Amino acid sequence: MDYDAIILGAGGAGLLAAATAGKAGARICVIDHADRPGKKILISGGGRRFRLPPGSAGPFAAG
Ligand SMILES: Cc1cc2nc3c(=O)[nH]c(=O)nc-3n(C[C@H](O)[C@H](O)[C@H](O)COP(=O)(O)OP(=O)(O)OC[C@H]3O[C@@H](n4cnc5c(N)ncnc54)[C@H](O)[C@@H]3O)c2cc1C
Repeated sequence: MDYDAIILGAGGAGLLAAATAGKAGARICVIDHADRPGKKILISGGGRRFRLPPGSAGPFAAG
């Protein structure tokens, strides 16, 4: 299969890049050496995932 871009790393940055490029119509392949995507995000915030200070969240950030 052909891809427009290959993203190395399925962390927050890679997943957001993949989602943004995918929405724009690009064919994206995301590669990670971990056994599941977003692993670090899942342990962030003491296991409660990404936490931002109240009021600092933009449209992408859900608590
Ligand atoms: C314990 C902990 C708690 C945290 N809590 C918070 C919080 O509450 N709020 C907050 O905003 N931030 C928090 N952070 C920070 C947050 O996790 C990082 O800022 C964020 O994950 C960075 O995203 P990233 O996509 O740049 O990198 P990463 O999340 O590190 O993603 C990089 C990805 O690339 C993969 N990778 C690396 N090298 C290779 C390779 N050679 N081949 C294939 N894949 C590779 C990794 O497996 C990983 O999935 C916390 C971090 C930790 C460790």
